[in-house]
Amino acid sequence: MKRAIYPGSFDPVTNGHMDIIVRSADIVDELVVGVLNNHAKNPLFSVDERVSMLKEITKDFPNVTIASFDGLLVDFMEEIQATLIIRGLRAVTDFEYELQIAQTNHIVNPKVETIFLTTSLNYSYLSSTIVKEIASYGGDISKFVPVQFVDRIYKKYKECEL
Ligand code: ADP
Repeated sequence: MKRAIYPGSFDPVTNGHMDIIVRSADIVDELVVGVLNNHAKNPLFSVDERVSMLKEITKDFPNVTIASFDGLLVDFMEEIQATLIIRGLRAVTDFEYELQIAQTNHIVNPKVETIFLTTSLNYSYLSSTIVKEIASYGGDISKFVPVQFVDRIYKKYKECEL
């Protein structure tokens, strides 16, 4: 049985993330979407909010679960007994960093393998950072994130302004 983890910040989850989730859930037996609780970053959505958004959007996928983690990914993988890491590659700019991380993880734990899925062409430009940038100016983000989250993202910016 192959259990994989798809780690990321998902702040917020985008259609690009969803594309990777749907495609990888079809490849592996079990997929855990791992929401990174990174204290160094100042996220727009709390880790609990990000987990609950992901749960909502993946509820119809029987082999997908959502979990949050902090610390080293390889340690969390040991805890949940996952051996595969799923990452998305958008452009060459992603490649150098991803290669370095994948090789490091493999050296730390040789049982750990990383699988890269190339982005679907229509999402190759898309990142959570871009979504946040557009939303912060009140721009249209409806093509970039799952429809039920559009208003939640705008609302978050309104709360931040108060
Ligand atoms: P972002 O880079 O959007 O802030 P994360 O840090 O949450 O997102 O990224 C988690 C993983 O999802 C990374 O492997 C990243 O390359 C991948 N990913 C993010 N956006 C896309 C996309 N549009 N297409 C394919 N993979 C993506």
